[in-house]
Amino acid sequence: MSYAEVAVNVPLAHLRTFSYHIPPDMPLSVGHGVWVPFGPRLVQGIVLAVTDRPQVEDTKDIAQTIDPHPILHPHQVELCRWMAEQYLSSYFEAAALMLPPGFERRVLALVQPTSNRSELTMSSLTPAQRKLLSLLEARGKVPLRELKKAAGAGRAEALVEQLVRKGLAVKSYELERVKVRPRLVKYVALGVSQEQASEAVAGLERKRAVQQAGLLRLLMQQPGPVSLTEVRKRLNITPSAVEVLRRRGLVSIEEVRMRRDPLAHRAFSPMPAPTPTRAQEEAWAAVSAEMGRLACGEPPHLGTPPVFLLHGVTGSGKTEIYLRALSRAMSLGKRAIVLVPEIALTPQTIARFAGRFPDRVAVLHSKLSLGEQFDEWQQIRDGAFDVVIGSRGAIFAPQPNLGLIVMDEEHEWTYKQHEQPPRYHAREVAIKLASLTNSVVILGSATPDLTSYHRAQRGEFRLLELTERISSGKVTPLPKVEIVDLRRELKEGNRSIFSRSLSGSLSETLAAREQAILFLNRRGTATFVQCRGCGFVLRCRRCDVSLTYHGVEDDLVCHRCNHRAKIPGVCPNCLGKRIKFLGIGTQKVEEEMARAFPQARLLRWDRDVTGGRHSHEQILDRFLAHEADVLIGTQMIAKGLDMPLVTLVGVINADIGLYLPDYRSGERTFQILAQVAGRAGRGKLGGRVIVQSYSPEHYALVAAANHDYASFYRQEIEFRRQQGDPPFSRLARLLYTHANAAQCRKEAEKLYKALEEEKDYQGLRSTVLVGPCPCFTQRVRGKFRWQIVIRSPDPLPLLSRVPLPPGWSADIDPVSLL
Ligand code: ADP
Ligand code: ZN
Repeated sequence: MSYAEVAVNVPLAHLRTFSYHIPPDMPLSVGHGVWVPFGPRLVQGIVLAVTDRPQVEDTKDIAQTIDPHPILHPHQVELCRWMAEQYLSSYFEAAALMLPPGFERRVLALVQPTSNRSELTMSSLTPAQRKLLSLLEARGKVPLRELKKAAGAGRAEALVEQLVRKGLAVKSYELERVKVRPRLVKYVALGVSQEQASEAVAGLERKRAVQQAGLLRLLMQQPGPVSLTEVRKRLNITPSAVEVLRRRGLVSIEEVRMRRDPLAHRAFSPMPAPTPTRAQEEAWAAVSAEMGRLACGEPPHLGTPPVFLLHGVTGSGKTEIYLRALSRAMSLGKRAIVLVPEIALTPQTIARFAGRFPDRVAVLHSKLSLGEQFDEWQQIRDGAFDVVIGSRGAIFAPQPNLGLIVMDEEHEWTYKQHEQPPRYHAREVAIKLASLTNSVVILGSATPDLTSYHRAQRGEFRLLELTERISSGKVTPLPKVEIVDLRRELKEGNRSIFSRSLSGSLSETLAAREQAILFLNRRGTATFVQCRGCGFVLRCRRCDVSLTYHGVEDDLVCHRCNHRAKIPGVCPNCLGKRIKFLGIGTQKVEEEMARAFPQARLLRWDRDVTGGRHSHEQILDRFLAHEADVLIGTQMIAKGLDMPLVTLVGVINADIGLYLPDYRSGERTFQILAQVAGRAGRGKLGGRVIVQSYSPEHYALVAAANHDYASFYRQEIEFRRQQGDPPFSRLARLLYTHANAAQCRKEAEKLYKALEEEKDYQGLRSTVLVGPCPCFTQRVRGKFRWQIVIRSPDPLPLLSRVPLPPGWSADIDPVSLL
């Protein structure tokens, strides 16, 4: 076994590892981080396998191990392989998600002149070579990167090689600086006995060394060592004065490793567990039995791994089930990972976990400082926490002895990474990880992803339902929802953004000194073209998806079939002339609100006002402390927050997002409305919800208003079946970006043809290629975007035979096609 298959940190066109020889004295196993030569450079790599047969005859040696211990657990290596293959990323890109924060480093190439200066070689130099050499002579050792800046990227490298061959320069390598280190804090302690210290104090005072005497006195009073920062805060003592005491052996200084604690700024009050309700009891019994079976090594009754879909209306006590499962896992000697959609938006959830299990909870997410991430990661790996809570990336936490994975709000789109490869979905990774580690998975939601619910219907997941809301320990009804028809409001002369009903309810709520939430989901360029007279939205004739206006030319485009149409002068439905590109945002709502209700104290919560690191918590805390009467926000406010004083929720325009040309726009609208409606009436005061819409009869709205997931599911699943959309197929979205629009079209057509040919060759009759066509957002940061969508029972066999040319990215099971 003297060869290693290594996932290298370089951009690759194909999914592959490289073979390296293991030097005889190097202990190496699967999961080790290594430095390996790659072309002229050294790069980082992860050992995925150790074999006795390399892929090629001529192998280079592994240069060095990065850490004496393997960095990845064997099951993580397996997970990394699976992810790269599922999501078409490189192995290293997949592994990178599991590496310690700050791990990725590069090697710096340095160039240095030699002292060889024979007449002959000097006279043979070209002017460019001479120029570079004199630069080197002036500077000494120069990073190659800087030479590239001076002489041009390709050129500098060639010139350096020429100088090296002539013996005039040498190259060497250095590692890039380590980005994070453990934080060490200096502590001072007495180095002698109390008696000896008192004697020393007397001596120092005679010599008028007041500061030094003061330090000794301080240490004599303290039970243990005191940090140097604390000492400086209390005494006006110089570092050299401390140093004198240390040299005399009167004090000792030691460095202690400190944890940068992301929860340090918050205090948690301990919370005891409530007695479960009947419904909770039943759901819990199923989970508990399965956890017990796994723990004694019996085969699970469900599939492997056992996955529970906990479908419970907002406030039905799902979190209580998670907490029980965690507690059970701990008593079985197992650890857990809990995923939440966005940690900054879920401070209450974290508080509940931390309150139930003080000091046993770690928090991990990308908004932490690198230092905080590093410390949490190290401690997690050492097994310091029973529970790791985090956003999607926390699924890769090196939690040893994993037994339970919880995913709260499993329908949330933030669980999908879509900007960079691997474009994974944390739910699928969680299920794979659970099967590798013999863990139980609990997926929870009030509005499950349609696909998850479908999997539960087919028996792949075990469905658990909590149908009643608990408030103050008692079952309470869900809030009443009224849908207001905005077309009628207009017809009857109300042009304000508040319907009469909403405006009346706002007055009442304010008069009663209760709180209200106003919701408007305006994110990105969600433009659609709608007639304000009849509510008609312009759609493609062939596809029944809305047509999109791009802000260029007069064209409306269908993103399904590429059909184009001109903007009509009159509404094709009612012949009215009030065709509008609708567009109000939360800021506009705030202005209108201030005008209509000058006495109300307003607070706005959207991405524009949440700059700081803890600003989400601050806004929420201020609202909970009743420092404001009305909270105006985007979908951020729809997350699982518990706001007992809120008795009114108003949805300004429920149609936003409904007509986006995406097969999931109905599902998304339903989910958001149901979640927002769930914010009302969580306290003793009860509550109501008013939803304003131009299309009040839309099934997604009606189902959300009735809190009726089942009826939404029935209609939506039927629609998907007819269209052949997921879950009845899988999608892959291939995206190409380029500054030149014509180049985009050319590239897209070329790849389309290659895919079409391979599809025919493999005889994949149920695979459909859609496109190529421009994306919904045609241009991002100055670059045009084109896409090809593959709809198929499984897009991977086709894609694995047609490697994507440079510039293309693949998104398997994309959450949206926009
Ligand atoms: P969900 O996670 O489904 O939104 P929660 O677990 O947050 O619901 O429960 C809603 C509220 O009811 C919370 O304030 C919670 O503390 C409380 N609660 C949950 N279960 C019980 C119970 N068995 N007895 C009393 N209160 C409960
Ligand atoms: Zn169309």
